[in-house]
Amino acid sequence: MAEQPRALLAQLGGQPVLILPEGTIRTTGRDALRNNIAAAKALGETIKSTLGPKGMDKMLVDSLGDITITNDGVTILEEMEIEHPAAKMLVEVAKTLNQEVGDGTTSSVVFASELLRKAEELLDQDIHPTVIIRGYRIAQDIARKTLEKIAKKVTLKDREILKKIALTSMSGKSALAQNPETMEKIADLVVEAVLTVAREENGKIIIDREDIKREKKAGGSIEDTELIKGIVIDKEVVHPQMPKVVKDAKIALLDTALEVKETETDAEIRITKPEELKAFLAEEEKMLKEMVEKIAKVGANVVFCQKGIDDLAQHFLAKKGILAVRRVKRSDMEKLAKATGARIVTNLEDLTEKDLGYAEIVEEKRVGGENMVFVRGCKNPKSVTILARGGTEHVVEEIDRSIEDAIGAVTSALADGYFVAGGGAPEMEIAINVRKEAQKYSGREQLAILAFADAIEVIPKAIAENAGMDTIDIILKLRAEHEKGNITYGVDVDKGDVGDMLEKGVIEPLRVKTQMIASATEAAEMILRIDDIIAAGKSKKEESKKEEEEESVGED
Ligand code: ADP
Ligand code: MG
Repeated sequence: MAEQPRALLAQLGGQPVLILPEGTIRTTGRDALRNNIAAAKALGETIKSTLGPKGMDKMLVDSLGDITITNDGVTILEEMEIEHPAAKMLVEVAKTLNQEVGDGTTSSVVFASELLRKAEELLDQDIHPTVIIRGYRIAQDIARKTLEKIAKKVTLKDREILKKIALTSMSGKSALAQNPETMEKIADLVVEAVLTVAREENGKIIIDREDIKREKKAGGSIEDTELIKGIVIDKEVVHPQMPKVVKDAKIALLDTALEVKETETDAEIRITKPEELKAFLAEEEKMLKEMVEKIAKVGANVVFCQKGIDDLAQHFLAKKGILAVRRVKRSDMEKLAKATGARIVTNLEDLTEKDLGYAEIVEEKRVGGENMVFVRGCKNPKSVTILARGGTEHVVEEIDRSIEDAIGAVTSALADGYFVAGGGAPEMEIAINVRKEAQKYSGREQLAILAFADAIEVIPKAIAENAGMDTIDIILKLRAEHEKGNITYGVDVDKGDVGDMLEKGVIEPLRVKTQMIASATEAAEMILRIDDIIAAGKSKKEESKKEEEEESVGED
């Protein structure tokens, strides 16, 4: 299949011309396409078993032996360290989807890979990729219109609906599934968090997902997961003599170290006599003291510092009764700035009273055997943190991922104002509509449109299959219900039958579905367009770099 470089010799006036470097491997035409499709199919098969509420988990072991146990599509794809370029493209699509919508990633990869499987069958019948792409595009448009037609409205007032949307997005996560009460509680927290940060502007609902900070701490149980109206920082107060609680906090945010800088130039200071050392140290002490004086003078009683704080500076701060935290992450500094109204100050000399932020209370609390700093009652009430808890590191991480998905789902539902039933109901409705509309087209194009309809049924099929149900039986029943007009019927995994998803409260944001379908179709299209893979041979430089990396890992 892969041709050797000699095939890359172009004939130019009788002279062979080498247009690609030595070591390049080139695959062309149908071979290239089939190779890519095979990779996409393999990827789809791998994550299909995690889809839906009864999906299984994957245990991922990285090169260092660290384990992640998850059911989350994006996480699996990220951790798999995929090498194949076409499979990598699918992963990129899933990642983008995750950033933009926060849910529906497994579905999109499974669907994309099914679209490609069907495309392969069409290729076998000598249908050109361009025709397949055209058919898929027509079908996608029908799908979008179908979704818009069946979507229902949701507003900020519909707490129950929003909660169900959160629950549906979390339902596949086994860490939560065993405990319905906890799941309800977390769904409530997520809805509360989103409603807190949501605002209306010219009739549009605006939610910045960044306003909801997520923190996690192992220890305790999942039920201890809580919503904090304010910011939680995963750091401790830097000095034991500092107050652990400060009320009416005036907060300074510094992104400069409270340390005496190493001598600015590289010049060495030669100290030969003990008096000189003493003078040197005294000078250092004086400078640190002045820094602290400055902070105290503008009226700050809490300091969050992005850099280090010298031991001596800590001591002076403690004496002034100032609570200080050091080495705070930049992203946390920014969240603190937004929440408390403080300005992040780079040069201590510039610090004024106006730069200080406000919070009713800043306190250090013990969480799961470690200290965290809570900033509550902020000037900006629209800043919240969800602190995920759970018995072990693996559980907390999965809970945190579920919360992320749920925030994404509730946010998407509100931003567009629409939701649809889940459990494969919209996919089946799309399949039916696409098949109907396909009749308007002829020949090869129609075959491609019909292939899209077959492909999208993979979603209800996989949900049923993962629940141990008879997929052929279920798909036939589901088609029959939809033909009768029961458009919200989907796979009821508890009853092992088809059922009304709306009634069951299995609902999802419209956007998750439209985006899932759009990105899957786009990804399939992208892969179908490729008829030539030109892969550079591994360069010497890269290989030696890789070796170096492997070595340094060992040293660590
Ligand atoms: P994704 O990464 O695509 O969101 P999930 O594993 O979260 O993958 O599965 C999502 C699918 O599972 C959606 O089609 C959704 O409607 C469906 N689903 C979620 N909860 C249920 C349920 N209780 N019963 C049936 N289907 C469900
Ligand atoms: Mg999901």
